[in-house]
Amino acid sequence: MASNVTELLVTTPFYSPIELGDTGEPIFEQLVFGSIVIDCHCTECGKDSTFRRDSLASNGGGAGSGVVTVAVAKQTIKIIEGNTINIELYCARNHAHKMRYWFTVQKGKLIKIGQYPSMVSISRGGLRKYSKVIYDGGIRELESAMTLATHDHGIGAVVYLRRIIEHLLNNHAKLARENGTFDADIERLDIPQRIEALRDTLPRFLYENKTIYGILSKGVHELSDETCMQYFPMLLSSILLILEQELSERQRILKEDVLRKEIHKLSSALGSSKTD
Ligand SMILES: [Zn+2]
Repeated sequence: MASNVTELLVTTPFYSPIELGDTGEPIFEQLVFGSIVIDCHCTECGKDSTFRRDSLASNGGGAGSGVVTVAVAKQTIKIIEGNTINIELYCARNHAHKMRYWFTVQKGKLIKIGQYPSMVSISRGGLRKYSKVIYDGGIRELESAMTLATHDHGIGAVVYLRRIIEHLLNNHAKLARENGTFDADIERLDIPQRIEALRDTLPRFLYENKTIYGILSKGVHELSDETCMQYFPMLLSSILLILEQELSERQRILKEDVLRKEIHKLSSALGSSKTD
């Protein structure tokens, strides 16, 4: 289940009902009445951007009309049951670039029923930046996870997410072995042991939340498609955060390397001209 509006909009597949109980209502109220600001790839700019809702008026004729004065969420839900909630967000770079989402409420459950551009279109551009830190074919597998989730194939979607973690660990083990900081046979370690052994170089979020692999494995072996679908938005967001941290660390190392060489070069040049 989505834990915030960004997950609800960006990574929650269609037709996954969200129970509007005690925890669901804040998301619902923000979706309908709140200010929405999300970071997301803009398919028209071809870059990551920020999308926001200009005003509540952009809710259109769905939830926006006739319910604004109702303060209590349960009453609000009752009034708009069956109506379509239209959400329109605008790209910060260009107001003509829009993202549109459609939701409905049926039997006390919030259901995402459509969006444009599609989740896969948005992710295709947004995921491209991770190609530097993911194996060949990894981006395509992430897209496959999203496509499967869109069609309610939760177990299959989770399999692809688990592969991302496995490849990441293998890659770190390979690099650590090349650097002489890891000499264990990774195949003999279980996943928690691998994460512990490689903790110094792994993305922080993965190390601090190492149980995520257990959840993914449980999804593959024990959980139903329906249960996997409930957890998919949170799991996908976690995988994307791990890739983001991996990319950020890679960029930091590269930047430091470039600057170190420049400083060394300059220092040598100044030294050879006897300047202090
Ligand atoms: Zn844009």
